[in-house]
Amino acid sequence: MAEKFFSEKNLKFTLYDVHKVEDLLKHDRFGDYNRESFDMILDTAKNIGSGFMYPLYSEMDKNAPEYTGTTIKVNPAVRQYMNTSGEGGWINAMFPAEHGGQQMPLSLFNACMFIFASANYSLSVYPGLTTGAASLIYNYGSESLIKDYAEKMVTGKWQGTMALTEPEAGSSLSDVKTSAEPMPGGYFHIKGQKTFISAGDHDNADNIIHLMLARVKGAPAGVKGLSLFVVPKYRPADSGELEFNDVNCAGCYHKMGYRGAPIAQLSMGEVDDCRGYLVGEQNLGLTYMFRMMNEARINVGLGATAISSAAYYASLEYTRERLQGRKIDEKNPLNTQIPIIEHADIKRMLLQQRAIFEGSLSLMVYAGKLVDLTTVTEGEEREIYELLLDFLTPIVKTYPSEMGITSTSQAIQCLGGYGYSSEFPVEQYMRDVRIHPIHEGTTGIQGMDLLGRKVTMKKGAAVKIFLEEIQNAIDEAAGISGMESSASDLANAAALWKDTTYSLLGIAAKGEIDLFLADATLYLELSGILCIAWQWLLQGIALSKTDSGENSDSDKNFSKGKMFTLNYFYQYELPKIHGLALRLKNSDGLTLKMKPEFFED
Ligand SMILES: Cc1cc2nc3c(=O)[nH]c(=O)nc-3n(C[C@H](O)[C@H](O)[C@H](O)COP(=O)(O)OP(=O)(O)OC[C@H]3O[C@@H](n4cnc5c(N)ncnc54)[C@H](O)[C@@H]3O)c2cc1C
Repeated sequence: MAEKFFSEKNLKFTLYDVHKVEDLLKHDRFGDYNRESFDMILDTAKNIGSGFMYPLYSEMDKNAPEYTGTTIKVNPAVRQYMNTSGEGGWINAMFPAEHGGQQMPLSLFNACMFIFASANYSLSVYPGLTTGAASLIYNYGSESLIKDYAEKMVTGKWQGTMALTEPEAGSSLSDVKTSAEPMPGGYFHIKGQKTFISAGDHDNADNIIHLMLARVKGAPAGVKGLSLFVVPKYRPADSGELEFNDVNCAGCYHKMGYRGAPIAQLSMGEVDDCRGYLVGEQNLGLTYMFRMMNEARINVGLGATAISSAAYYASLEYTRERLQGRKIDEKNPLNTQIPIIEHADIKRMLLQQRAIFEGSLSLMVYAGKLVDLTTVTEGEEREIYELLLDFLTPIVKTYPSEMGITSTSQAIQCLGGYGYSSEFPVEQYMRDVRIHPIHEGTTGIQGMDLLGRKVTMKKGAAVKIFLEEIQNAIDEAAGISGMESSASDLANAAALWKDTTYSLLGIAAKGEIDLFLADATLYLELSGILCIAWQWLLQGIALSKTDSGENSDSDKNFSKGKMFTLNYFYQYELPKIHGLALRLKNSDGLTLKMKPEFFED
């Protein structure tokens, strides 16, 4: 098995040189940190990733969780990892001090999550889910909910989940049916079913705490009638002991990948004794969930980026060792074969993987820094960061997820038949990454969010800020020797994106909303390529500043490799926007006119 699953050098370059996360240290909230402590935290994450998580990566896939009839049996290492995460302060690392946290910047925390997820994505999600659920309680829950639940969750002893999906309410959360009936004791009776709940039940936590969407009896239809509840598997009884809360695990799905984490089906209130505790105000459930959504969706993009990184390093190692074929101009079959990494087509596939995941990583760190900036700024400045973050979120979630499939597929291709075999690690990466375009809102839903909501919000204010940010990078790169043509390519790409956007808005202005949104997924793809080109330009700019003239050979190789990858992105990936723009600017409603019955023979 390959030993390397991420590049520390590239991660630090992205954090410190490209996105200058040290700039955050001037804000009081992050004042306890410095470069030294940042590096120490990254080192600790690296040790946990390589010492504990990575060795379990394949085993957790091969021995997937199993339903026992009442719960789901998972790998015993989960308990150890949750304990390590609790004791090490990872679960609440980003929380403010008043919530017992360490006020760690999200940019740094996400860099650690990137390490964990590239070491073992499935294992990394258990504490990650707990962080999200506990954070909702700290932000919107009562003091007693914090004391009874959140404080125990952050120790790693209790698992947290996000329970939204139901059999008839996947993408369409407005159809959530789980009901909540107010009771005299101040709690609600919960009744209904949830499906696909990650870590929704397992035998390696002392309790499972669901942050669950349900509809209070009499509440309005649609998403405006959804409220958020804490629904524990075991609730504290008056005696202080824990008693079963009628949250029943009805089974688990067997998945193509991401197999180390269980996905539970839950049935609440089978004997009418499931209690839920309201978080915040009634009917604001989805609003609370959505406030956490930016971070949850960055996490998905980050997970996909991390898996693509691990697949790349596995394929890189293999292509250096595998001897096959000879140079095209070598005519003597008795001469030894060459390592396949010397073939142009293999180099193309390695470059494509690197262009995708290093570009994505840069976007992830940028998004994390935007979240950090929204926590330390106020007024107009804060609004700018929030708008930009909201606008970028569907792209941050989707580009790494969709392109992670291409990237991990190329890793398999580099290994040929061995790549297709489960004796080698890369096929698992492709199976693992496949979840990301599905959960936390499918790619189709993200496309409609970007074009239907984010582009038009506040009269296009976010689009303006986005284009200004890109223009700043173009202006800087245009003045750097060797980067002029990339700067000009990005300027042309941004102009094409703007044209395409206006053309689509013209359709919306005519009231043809179906046509406007019919190819929103393609618009998202186009926007993703533009964003990653921008991130590569930022990397090029940063590189031009790191060359001191005294760089080591390894530094020089790193810089050269980066510049080749930047050029690869601009010459092989960026031109794809022309085909997408052509289609979008000539929207004629082909898919709208295609009728379901025409799919028959
Ligand atoms: C491994 C895994 C883990 C998960 N973890 C969780 C979790 O922890 N908590 C939780 O609550 N949920 C979880 N989910 C559920 C996940 O969020 C849903 O699967 C997802 O939102 C899609 O819902 P669905 O599966 O019902 O698909 P559907 O909503 O039926 O979608 C099927 C297809 O139809 C498309 N589609 C749907 N509606 C529209 C529309 N209006 N316009 C155009 N296209 C549309 C979709 O884009 C998709 O391509 C998980 C799912 C999986 C597989």
